[in-house]
Amino acid sequence: MDGATQVTTAPAVLILLGPPGAGKGTQARMLEEKFGLVQLSTGDLLRAAVAAGTEAGLAAKAVMEAGQLVSDEIVIAILRDRIAEPDCARGVILDGFPRTTVQAEALDDLLAESDQKINAAVSLEVDDGAMVERISGRYTCGTCGEGYHDSFKTPAVAGVCDKCGGTEMKRRADDKAETVASRLEAYHAQTAPLIAYYGDKGVLQSIDAMGQIDTIAEELARIVTAATA
Ligand SMILES: [Zn+2]
Repeated sequence: MDGATQVTTAPAVLILLGPPGAGKGTQARMLEEKFGLVQLSTGDLLRAAVAAGTEAGLAAKAVMEAGQLVSDEIVIAILRDRIAEPDCARGVILDGFPRTTVQAEALDDLLAESDQKINAAVSLEVDDGAMVERISGRYTCGTCGEGYHDSFKTPAVAGVCDKCGGTEMKRRADDKAETVASRLEAYHAQTAPLIAYYGDKGVLQSIDAMGQIDTIAEELARIVTAATA
């Protein structure tokens, strides 16, 4: 039998690092299906804790209502509660947390309370130039929603939707090349210390995230299998 029967195995803790557009959400969903892990994003965690009215959730609510940022302590407290829930028994994929090395250290301390540690921090590596082209080139048909791309998928007749004949094409404002480039820059600046932190801990793994979704998923599955063995 596989790992599903090993009730003594500690829950896996994975961290996914990757810029917007690297396919983090897609990959996390595949890991959820394949390994029974639960993806935890900071935003979802906060909303759920506030809705559930837990002690940490109420503290977060008060801070947010005052227009302030929720402290690391509160986020860690919410994470502590959440990881202890039964659906997280196989493990979790953390998305968007930690964002700083201070948070990474707090997370290590939290996991140490229950003799746990980070199994792997996986960095989805992108080529910035290619990423800007990929994101800034995309547009959709305003009528039926069919997706197109300046370089990779142009309609048979320029400006006319292949599917419905619509002629109103839409581009998202935040897909502009300059916007994507500055988003990537901010990501690298923010993530570099974390990459170094997990590199020093010996748990950092890097994946080329510019390839096919299935290839990336296979690579990721291989890493998770090895890291949780
Ligand atoms: Zn259309």
